[in-house]
Amino acid sequence: MRRRPRGKTILRCPHCGSDRLIFEGGLILGQLYHCLACDYVGSLVLETDEATEKRTAT
Ligand SMILES: [Zn+2]
Repeated sequence: MRRRPRGKTILRCPHCGSDRLIFEGGLILGQLYHCLACDYVGSLVLETDEATEKRTAT
């Protein structure tokens, strides 16, 4: 089940937590993302919304 929160969804790297992710396109396993901050490449990314971002910002 996918919920769609209001506002923009922000993708974050599960490795370093950066939001500098780019979409690499589809492979056999599905969609692939590339983190520009730590060079992580994978299909698993964290999805957060802007409200969560504001709450957790320090
Ligand atoms: Zn990263």
